[in-house]
Amino acid sequence: TLSARNVGAWFGDHQVLEGVDLEMKAGQVTALIGPSGCGKSTFLRILNRMHELVPGASLSGEVLIDGDDIYAPTMPPIESRRRIGMVFQKANPFPTMSIHDNVLSGLKLAGKGFGKGRAAEAGDLVEHSLRSAGLWDEVRNRLGAPGGSLSGGQQQRLCIARALAVSPDVLLMDEPCSALDPTSTRRVEETIAAIAHEVTVVIVTHNMQQAQRVSDRCAFFLAAENQPGHIVEQGSTADIFENPRDERTSDYVNGRF
Ligand code: ATP
Ligand code: MG
Repeated sequence: TLSARNVGAWFGDHQVLEGVDLEMKAGQVTALIGPSGCGKSTFLRILNRMHELVPGASLSGEVLIDGDDIYAPTMPPIESRRRIGMVFQKANPFPTMSIHDNVLSGLKLAGKGFGKGRAAEAGDLVEHSLRSAGLWDEVRNRLGAPGGSLSGGQQQRLCIARALAVSPDVLLMDEPCSALDPTSTRRVEETIAAIAHEVTVVIVTHNMQQAQRVSDRCAFFLAAENQPGHIVEQGSTADIFENPRDERTSDYVNGRF
């Protein structure tokens, strides 16, 4: 379970998030929805400590993973990033690195790479990760081919496999399907459904049908002219879509702004 408590975010002295409280529970898929610029990507970056890498960025509040503060001095950034994986809007495998090595590349960054003599073990993990991402059957005979030789949808699933290879507790996905065709989108959605039992999944999407298909809970973010991004309403996906309490939620999910 990932918990955000009273999170605020700034770029310089411009506040872009305020008072964000959200529990993202293990075994559930949480969808973050809301108009462009309301701070969804910023919030995801806060959840895996990438926000602190942006020059001039600052934040307030707390983020806890299973009760541990990811910003505590005792939690090395590398540890929180291993426990909290991320997949971006634009698939970003290493283009000249093989598919096999791409899957394992996250482990090296997390300081857990396989040394020499453990090729079989590494191969098992590659297969398992690619199966979880729904890509194994398409690439099993070409694991040595460069990551950049895959189609866009395959590259996105390769990035999901890379994220899963480090066994994260949480997988953050920022509009993972926005550049994908319907078939690849469906495969990614199947992957989300398959991993959600073990991994806490948080997905940002502008596709309301997708939010309804994949998520158990939704949080609707909004930034008003004089107000930083904040959560207007959160709840079960069924309630957000069928029984929203706030008129702005209803307008947004029905495409009225
Ligand atoms: P979209 O749906 O278009 O992806 P979003 O909800 O993900 O939008 P963010 O990208 O989080 O929105 O942006 C939130 C606000 O923070 C915006 O006003 C944006 O201009 C600002 N912002 C984002 N990144 C930076 C940055 N590196 N420097 C300054 N301002 C930024
Ligand atoms: Mg965004």
